[in-house]
Amino acid sequence: GLPVCECNKCYYGSDCSQLLHDCPADVDSGDPMFLEAYWQQQAASSAVVISGWHRMSYSTDGKDYLSIELEKHIRILHQVVGNAVTDGKFIVFGSGSAQLINALVYALSPSNASSSPASVVASVPYYPFYKKQTNLFETRAYGWGGTTSSWANASVSSATNFIEFVTSPNNPDGLFKQPVLGSSAVIFDYAYYWPHYSPILDPADEDVMLFTNSKISGHAGSRFGWAVIKDEGVFERTANYLSLNTMGVSRDTHLRVLKLIKAMIAEKGGKGDIFEFGHRTLKARWSKLNELVSSSSRFSLQQHSARYCNYFRTIRDPSPAYAWLKCEWKEEDVCHEALRKGSIISRSGALFEADSRYTRLSLIKTQDDFDLLLKRMQPLVSHEEMAS
Ligand code: PMP
Repeated sequence: GLPVCECNKCYYGSDCSQLLHDCPADVDSGDPMFLEAYWQQQAASSAVVISGWHRMSYSTDGKDYLSIELEKHIRILHQVVGNAVTDGKFIVFGSGSAQLINALVYALSPSNASSSPASVVASVPYYPFYKKQTNLFETRAYGWGGTTSSWANASVSSATNFIEFVTSPNNPDGLFKQPVLGSSAVIFDYAYYWPHYSPILDPADEDVMLFTNSKISGHAGSRFGWAVIKDEGVFERTANYLSLNTMGVSRDTHLRVLKLIKAMIAEKGGKGDIFEFGHRTLKARWSKLNELVSSSSRFSLQQHSARYCNYFRTIRDPSPAYAWLKCEWKEEDVCHEALRKGSIISRSGALFEADSRYTRLSLIKTQDDFDLLLKRMQPLVSHEEMAS
């Protein structure tokens, strides 16, 4: 007989074509499942088999729990994409870039107990993990210092040492960002500086740069990220943290990520180019949502324009990972709640320390999730007195 298939949770029927009446569009998380369709096309070339006897050891062939081949291919990936300079810099691996957030904060904080603690800061709207982790792990050497705007007007003593997070393109609004406090230490989070989401301008050449495989290949569940670090002392402190914390990343994950990165490099420029796939998919989603939202005066989106991209060697249309939606009416009703009433689960602007008239819609989940989002947005956009 026919295989019994499981339908996406909002659909039913023998061919899963029937939509459940009340099922909400869940566009809350940044789970990059839009890339599942890509890997289904690359099933054989991306498969990994690990025999029982393989990779059992605590030790790896590289220093500091790195695998030599994986580190080499990460450098090649940056080279072929042209998004970052890694020559003469150190690399560390993390269990997701999430693990590296606090590892880097620790490494950049004063090691001398008599120095005043570092203040960890970010500009609104910012990815909430920076604050949450810093509050969870704070020590005598560092603590959360709030938003950069809370310092901009104060007369900051030169003794204040900041560790500033700069996410560029930014989560949630997809805009390019720069440090604003003239901080001595800056962590540039380049999770979205890849051609799926962003034009590639000049290769980034910063002292501390954070990357995650989650948003490149889409394998968020493999928990793999890396940092590129210029200064040897900062590198050593980060490596020491990772050694004491988890003794490095799962060696099984090293193998899987190596296979994925090799596949992405091999397909570059051809029909199976993952960046081309990623850009094409997200560009189509952004333009559809943008068209729908533009037809209403009640909602607006962040502005993006087409820009020249050094990777595609042409002007490319925008394809951000998230829509930063603004509800334009003045009433108290916050945007996230208004959407919830219309069966859309989004991520409230308040979580990014922004005005609650903003909310974030993830555009990087499955095609079903996106299609349902459009379907649920339609009546909200056309229904003028929705907010009351
Ligand atoms: N930085 C940013 C800006 C992110 O959006 C995310 C994931 N949403 C991360 C870091 C962490 O990703 P991961 O731990 O999967 O590497």
